[in-house]
Amino acid sequence: MKDFDTFKELQKTQKAYQYVLTLASWDSNTEAPKASFPFRSEMLGIISGEHFSLLTDKEYVETVNDLYENGEDLNNRQTREIEKAKKNLDKIVKIPKRDYIEYSKLLNNAQKAWEESKEDSDYEAFKPYLEKIIAMKKKMVSFRQKENQHAYDVLLDDFEEGMTMEKYDAFFNTVKEELVPFVKDILKKKSDEAPAFVKKSYPVDKQKEFVEYLLDVFDFKKDRGVLKESVHPFTWNTHSKDVRFTTSYHENYVFSSVFAAIHELGHATYEQQVDDVFDMTNLKSGASMGIHESQSRFYENMIGRSKPFWNTHLSKFKSMFPSQMKTIEVDDFYQAINRVDETFIRIEADELTYPLHILIRYEIERMIFNDEVTVEELPSIWNKKVKEYLNLDVKKDSDGLLQDVHWSNGMFGYFPTYALGSAYAAQIYYTLIEDIEFEKLVEENRIDKINKWLRNKIHCYGSSLKPREIMEKVTGEPFNPKYYIRYLKEKYSDLYLK
Ligand SMILES: [Zn+2]
Repeated sequence: MKDFDTFKELQKTQKAYQYVLTLASWDSNTEAPKASFPFRSEMLGIISGEHFSLLTDKEYVETVNDLYENGEDLNNRQTREIEKAKKNLDKIVKIPKRDYIEYSKLLNNAQKAWEESKEDSDYEAFKPYLEKIIAMKKKMVSFRQKENQHAYDVLLDDFEEGMTMEKYDAFFNTVKEELVPFVKDILKKKSDEAPAFVKKSYPVDKQKEFVEYLLDVFDFKKDRGVLKESVHPFTWNTHSKDVRFTTSYHENYVFSSVFAAIHELGHATYEQQVDDVFDMTNLKSGASMGIHESQSRFYENMIGRSKPFWNTHLSKFKSMFPSQMKTIEVDDFYQAINRVDETFIRIEADELTYPLHILIRYEIERMIFNDEVTVEELPSIWNKKVKEYLNLDVKKDSDGLLQDVHWSNGMFGYFPTYALGSAYAAQIYYTLIEDIEFEKLVEENRIDKINKWLRNKIHCYGSSLKPREIMEKVTGEPFNPKYYIRYLKEKYSDLYLK
């Protein structure tokens, strides 16, 4: 039998390549001058090719397969490492190389086609690409599908280990039954316009200063992380001592800058708090997309959009923007940052209507992989669902099914993790407030204590535990969407129905 040390040695070399690729990718998204891209693509193409050869190297494949089949002597952590390695391996080696290359080329071209058709709101131009992506995706999944396993279940599990249509159906049915009518009630009470101070101009240099202040408030470890700017905010890490994230600043939309920064801080804090014993393993990162999103949403919504938080920090914000914020008190501010409104665009949606945007995408993806809809019919199905759940009439496809990048990247099965993450966050929240004095700590500017709780309960494990194991360990029960509904109803009844 192959030994575990052989696996570690081979994996270390792969990791070295991965490290360089991650740093280069960070650089592409933050610092690299535009003109450097052709040269960079050529160089990185070579390194990616070498990396791919290492991932599919015969000795490595044999070692992983052998340890997976005959690993009775491995300890729990080693078993988990092999399990993850095997899963990643199957995604690559089970697919014929010819299909793999064809698919990569297709996605490259589709990316550009999507950007253009979104710009022109021209679905017809993107349709042939989408049709091919879906057909290729179904074919690629068929190589990995187990007997009686549904294609969409393979994809759902790729993004959230252990999740299936059956489980998501139960979750989204709850959202549909409980939340859709509640949102309709709330929307009847909303004000027509956002208050004027929301859309005022806030100088970007001052916004940056405020975000720097937030880094300290959330106790981000600057000796182990970096913040830069990029078009779309994201978080990246190579290991627990090098966590990098970005935000973007909008002069006329200061809250977007502030809450995007807090959201990414949630992701970044998670990565910084993974136990460093995992640094050299494939367990070094967060447990899953859903658990990761639960941490960013917890930061953004439960802390960042709470009244105790602004009881403490509004004075700082006002001191930086005295003219824009002159007459604004905490109550006005709290109402404004939690304002509910119908919107066509998912990424602009508020906390309450957000899961309905995900519900729409989940139902459509489910239909696509059940062969219940043609590519031709997608816009009309989309628009029908937007009308049903959000009561809006989609006038152009750029506000409809062309708005998200995911499908042009072949990422089907990803969307549901966004809603799942928010729901996980609510369940974790109700456990946390039993355990520690959450509101008091937020108001006393002691988020380090909340971080400590999150570290011990969730972050330290990296991905050595599965999402289901984390939820059970932290909250004492399996994932249950009732907490999410309860959280949203409590918060928004208080804001709108009193
Ligand atoms: Zn996120």
